[in-house]
Parts: sequence; structure tokens; C-alpha cells
Amino acid sequence: MSNTSYNPYEIAQQQFDSVAEKIGLEKSTRELLRQPLREYHFLIPVKMDDGSVEVFKGYRIQHNDSRGPGKGGIRFHPQETADTIRALSMWMTWKCSVVDIPLGGAKGGVVCDPRKLSQREQEQVCRGYIRQMSKNLGPDIDVPAPDVMTNAQHMLWMLDEFETIHGAKYPGVITGKPVGMGGSLGRTEATGYGVIYVLRDALKRIGIDITKTKASFQGFGNVARYAVELYNQLGGTVVAISCWNDNDKKAYTFRKKDGIDYKELINITDSYGTIDKEKALALGYEILPGDAWIEQDVDILVPAALENQITAENVNKISKQVKVLLEAANGPTTPDADDVIKERGIFLIPDFLANAGGVTCSYFEQVQCNMNYFWEKDEVLTKLETKMTSAFKSVYELAVEKNLYMRDAAYVIAIDRVAQASKKRGWV
Ligand code: NAD
Repeated sequence: MSNTSYNPYEIAQQQFDSVAEKIGLEKSTRELLRQPLREYHFLIPVKMDDGSVEVFKGYRIQHNDSRGPGKGGIRFHPQETADTIRALSMWMTWKCSVVDIPLGGAKGGVVCDPRKLSQREQEQVCRGYIRQMSKNLGPDIDVPAPDVMTNAQHMLWMLDEFETIHGAKYPGVITGKPVGMGGSLGRTEATGYGVIYVLRDALKRIGIDITKTKASFQGFGNVARYAVELYNQLGGTVVAISCWNDNDKKAYTFRKKDGIDYKELINITDSYGTIDKEKALALGYEILPGDAWIEQDVDILVPAALENQITAENVNKISKQVKVLLEAANGPTTPDADDVIKERGIFLIPDFLANAGGVTCSYFEQVQCNMNYFWEKDEVLTKLETKMTSAFKSVYELAVEKNLYMRDAAYVIAIDRVAQASKKRGWV
């Protein structure tokens, strides 16, 4: 889904290669882990409401399942590419590993724009996806979940198609289902809350009082909105949020220097995370260009939209005041920009650690489905907090002990666990 010359897969491989070199990983293990184990590319023909047929391209890519069944979302996006999904499948492997849950890495996508599809057409895309993949998904094989522009309803249609094909109930085949239909309480909030649990721990470690901090966000979708909610509850002030406006085909930044009112903003945001411009103006928001979110004089920058958003071209626009880069999105920082972040001494909380709350809660959803016993929301969030806090602690302590950049420390832990699992299985 990259819209620049940066290729996320090449970036994911570069990041891997650099850590593999640092930890002296042998050639065979490097070869195995720097690319996906399996890829499925297929077509989904859909009879549209007007009687015509459109053919959508679908992907499922399984990077590594040495630590457990594949796990990863399915995205619907008009600019989806195989390389983006390859990268995301790799990052899923490291994400599951860094939070130490018994799952591997996978990712899927369909090249389509759900904003332009009716509910019936979207249902057909979901069912078509499962018809193509039904033999290669399963609670013990590979478990999808929602991601960009997919939601609980999409997951339920997919589950229903899978169960229809296999003639039995398999609630653990997909996560992110609606609550009451095999979904877990807390899943919707999990990624955004997880992002803030690690931010809170990071700020404590580096001696910053969260109540005195300001933040600027890119994105106001599923991840960002819950991150903003919890950050506000902990006393932080969000001054700017940018989001995409599909009618205008561009992004805008919405700014309130004295702090955004989360509830007010949610009321004027649609289900795709687009804030209504006219209503925002009426509520006193300044409307700035889409990339203005990165230039704000804040303590914390939170890219929570897409990959490749902080690049060599805009990294120097980051204000001197910024102390923490909290990567809520997957792959938001390109390697050249990452070098600048490192040089400037901005404390980085890397994506596959910061946003691991979603997959951790998906894992809890699977566990609950397997037991057919569902926990209360508080229990889910407490378990989530424990996992995120413990993962942050391990990464931070390794970074301090070995004087490593936080991204490298997270990679060292994650890659080592996957390499060990692959070795113990006798694969390499
Ligand atoms: P979403 O589709 O709910 O929201 C995306 C948001 O980004 C929307 O507000 C959209 O308007 C905004 N956006 C898109 N393009 C933009 C641009 N050019 N400039 C500014 N804003 C833009 O997606 P989400 O589920 O919140 O996911 C966001 C990121 O987090 C993605 O990288 C995703 O892979 C990652 N992630 C999501 C989850 C999850 O549980 N949803 C888990 C882990 C990681």
C-alpha cells in the first residue's frame, strides 16, 4: 500500500539483515527468516450490485510458523501490494515473538476500496477470499484478523464461509469477531491501549511526567482513537490529529493548541477514521495540511496511519521538542529517516512492540474460543497490560544493557526466539 518509492518489503529485509549481522545469525537461518515461507496469490470474482462482475486480487502470505500458527490481519486497500503484505507478514512474526505469544507471522490483503462497495459486495469479497484460502487457513494453521479498512463484520462473514465449507464450528479460525459471536471484550481497544501502556512505561523509564506531555497523531482510525482516549485519561494532551479525506483525495491535520476533546472529535469522525471538516471548523479546530502533524511542537509523535510516513524528506521537520517517537502504525519510518531519529536521540518505541496489543488480544480471543469461556473486559485488559509491560521491560533492559537502539533491541529478542524455534524443529 506504499505510495512512495520506499518498498516496505525491502525495508523489512534491511532491518532484518542488519540485526542478523549484529547477532551473527548463520547463513541458513538468515535465508529462511528474511523471506516468507509461503505465499498465496489469487483472484476473487464478485458479482456486483449492477450485475457486472469485478475481479479483485487477493493475497495471503505466511512468513514463519515455527512458534505457532500464522497470525495476521487482512487489509482492504486500493493500493495494496504483495511486497507490503510480505513486509507485514514478517513484522507479524517479530511482533508475536517480541510479546512471546505462541503464534507465527502472516498477513493478507485484497486490492479493493470498501468505501466504494456496498455491504453485499463487501460480503462477497470476504466470502470469496475464504473460498480461495479455506484449505490453508485454520485455528492450527493460520488465523486472520481485521486490519486497515476491515472490521468485525468482515471477520464474521469470513468465519461463516469457513464454517460452511468445513461443516463444523471453528471459532478460533479468525479473531476480531463481534463480541457475542466469538469475539473478545477489549479487542477493539487493545491495539490503541497497548500503544499507551508501553508509552506510559517508557516515559517513566526516561523520567517524563505523562501529564505534562503533548502529542500529535497521524491517523484517527481504530488504533489512534483508543490510544488518544487512554493517553487523555492518563493526563496527556493531544494537540493535533491528521486523517485522510477520500472526497478531497488528501489528508488534513486538525489542530487545537489547548488540547483536543476526544469525545467531541469521535462524534464527527466516520467509521473509516475521517474527521468531518465543516463540523471541525465549527468546533474551533484549525485545519492544516495533512503533513502538518509531523511539525508540531510536541513531546510525542504518534504515526498511527500507514507505512512510510516519516521519510528522509520530512524527518527534519520534526520539532526539537519531540522526545518520543511512538510507532503505532506498522512500518511508519523509513530506514534513512530512522538513522536521523537515532542520531537525534529521540526515544523510539518500535512498531512491532508498540502495536502488539492487537495481536496479543487476538491470541486471548483464540484462547477464550478454544475454552468456550469468555473473560470480563477488565480481565482481558489486565492480561494485556501484563504482556505489554513485560515485553517493553525486556526490550528496554536489553537496549540499556547492550547500548542498543530500541528497534534493534526489539529485533534481537524477536529474531532470536524465532531462530531458536526454527533450529529446535530442525529446519535449519
Ligand atoms: P484504520 O483504517 O482504522 O485507520 C487509519 C487512519 O489513518 C484513518 O484515520 C485514516 O484517515 C488515516 N490515514 C490514512 N491515510 C492517511 C494519510 N495519508 N495521512 C493522514 N492520515 C491518514 O486503520 P487502523 O486499524 O487504525 O491501523 C492503523 C495502522 O496501525 C496501520 O499501519 C495498521 O497496519 C496498524 N495496526 C493496526 C492494528 C489494529 O488492531 N487495527 C494492529 C496493529 C497494527
